[in-house]
Parts: sequence; C-alpha cells; structure tokens
Amino acid sequence: MSISHITLPVRWPRKRRIGREVMTRQNNILIEKCLALIEEARKVLENSYAPYSGIHVAAAVRSKDGSVFLGVNIENASYGLTICAERAAIASMVTAGKRSIDCLVIVSNTPKPLPPCGACRQVMAEFADDNAIIISYSVTSSEMRVWTLGELLPHAVKPTHILEETKRHQ
Ligand SMILES: [Zn+2]
Repeated sequence: MSISHITLPVRWPRKRRIGREVMTRQNNILIEKCLALIEEARKVLENSYAPYSGIHVAAAVRSKDGSVFLGVNIENASYGLTICAERAAIASMVTAGKRSIDCLVIVSNTPKPLPPCGACRQVMAEFADDNAIIISYSVTSSEMRVWTLGELLPHAVKPTHILEETKRHQ
C-alpha cells in the first residue's frame, strides 16, 4: 500500500482503554485532541528516509502549549546511526524552546502499530510525565494502539533523579 493513500480511523474504537488503566474524563479529552496528530504525522510520512528497511515512520509531538512538532525516521548507510521519528520530533520541539510533552503520535507502514523503542521511551521521559499519551497508528492495517508513557516505561530515569527541579529549565 502506498504510504500516501491511507484510511484514517473515522472514530475512536468503541472500547476505550489505555492498557489496564482506568480511563478518566481528563484522559479522554486529551486523547481526542491527540487523535488529530495522526493526520499531521501522516502528511510527512512520505518524507521518511528509509531506503534500507523500507519501514517508514513519522511522529508528531504536541507540547503542553498546543504546538505540534514533526519528525520522521532517518536511516543511514552506517545502520547504527539511524534516528527514530520520535526522537527527531522531540529534537524539533526542544529546538523551538518547548520542554513539556502532552502527547506523541507515531504513524508507520508496519503491519501493526509500532510501539516506540526503548531509547525513544527514555527520551520522552525527559520531557513528559507518566500520564502523557502515546498513540500509534498503522497505515497498513488501520489499527491503532494507545498507551501512557508510565505504562510503556515504568520507573524511568527522570531529570529529578539527577537535578533539582529548579535547575531543569535553566
Ligand atoms: Zn526509537
């Protein structure tokens, strides 16, 4: 399937849940807002640079002030230097001076929704609390998954383990 021709979910699945967590009204509102990011990420999916794996990934991250930042995966002939879409999007957010993630959306052409890799989870934890929403959508199967960061990476190393809170934003 061409990555430029996909079907977006018209509505949220009937069964709303995030893993085993109880859905709160606050979470529901946040998820509704984050769903719009699927389309934002899809628009840049064709810019993904993946000549080796053919796995195209795009990410959209929304900071707490509502700004949206995009990223795609960028492979390299020296495979280990490949950059994930999630971290590319977060780098763009930080470059713009934002430091707090509301939600992050991943769009990929994999058969199933792609969870973020371990490295990206830890990078998210630098700028997001455990309640941040992560949505992954497969353009191939039109399946979607929703997690919280705390569910994907419990006991993350946080800035507060290293720095006093006052120093974090300096
Ligand atoms: Zn990653």
